[in-house]
Amino acid sequence: MRTLVTGGAGFIGSHLVDRLVSRGDEVIVVDNLSSGVKEFIQGHIDSGAVDFRLVDMKNLDELKPTLEGVDMVFHLAANPDIRLGTRITDTDLKEGTIATYNLLESMRLAGVEKIAFASSSVVYGENAPMPTPENHGPCLPISLYGASKQGGEGLIGAWVGTFGLQAWVFRFANIIGERGTHGVIFDFIHKLKADPSRLEVLGNGLQEKSYMEVKDCVDAILHVIENTNDSMNLYNLGSNDTCSVRRIAEIVVRETGCHDASIEYTGGDRGWAGDIPKAMLAIDRLKGLGFKVNYDSEEAVAFTARVLIEEIMG
Ligand code: NAD
Repeated sequence: MRTLVTGGAGFIGSHLVDRLVSRGDEVIVVDNLSSGVKEFIQGHIDSGAVDFRLVDMKNLDELKPTLEGVDMVFHLAANPDIRLGTRITDTDLKEGTIATYNLLESMRLAGVEKIAFASSSVVYGENAPMPTPENHGPCLPISLYGASKQGGEGLIGAWVGTFGLQAWVFRFANIIGERGTHGVIFDFIHKLKADPSRLEVLGNGLQEKSYMEVKDCVDAILHVIENTNDSMNLYNLGSNDTCSVRRIAEIVVRETGCHDASIEYTGGDRGWAGDIPKAMLAIDRLKGLGFKVNYDSEEAVAFTARVLIEEIMG
């Protein structure tokens, strides 16, 4: 099978590439390395298992030829920084919505019929019931990133309805683990590396979200695709519980050995404008397909803290 992974040099994308290569796929990675790290997949490039294309998806003409002969696309490329939208208002539109349009149009022109899309829990917006089921609506995201994910879902739905595409849309919880290059655990470790005596936490620390370990996430993606065959397949991917930011701060302080660090909260119920303070996805649909999540949120946080401390602090 010839698969194309957009954002395949990124955190989640590189783990997906590992799995696709190990199951014997011929893999093409499209990435502009804006937040991706080529070294994550360098071994596969060197072995010839991955054909790496340095392409910016904002450029339709550059993207089109990469789709030739492809059986399935995994679309993970996006701006990963939700907070950026509070300062720069067109990044998510370009890197999310327009890049997704360019991909779908390239797929249509090349006759590629299957896509899996990395969407997000943030499409549900604020005040959704917790845990949030896939059929919750209306979805009213409150961040520019969330709007671009919803835009991507809408475009994919349009391609399914109009051009006969088959799609799997995955709304991810917070995905964490080895090779993480952003997010709360990554930030906390960098802050403690710079100043082991204090840890500043954005918000009051009571924000509470579900965390899913990245290998669980990748396994879940492949499991759902193997076990479903509707024209549009929509699945939440997360773990069975939540973990608070306060608890994450305590775990990172413990795991770094910075026991004297004072944890200081900036206050307010959320880290930044557009942040969703509390989020937990209902994963009954995923479990209904016989999938078992390995890590609960706190285990995933502790495991991630240990591997990222090793990666960042050495
Ligand atoms: P990441 O930043 O590590 O990966 C994104 C990749 O896309 C990077 O390799 C980047 O270089 C590439 N990219 C960005 N813009 C591009 C462009 N214009 N052209 C080509 N490549 C481009 O982030 P990640 O955490 O691995 O996220 C992967 C996907 O999952 C993203 O779509 C993200 O929105 C989604 N997601 C992630 C989480 C999470 O907790 N990490 C949660 C929900 C959804």
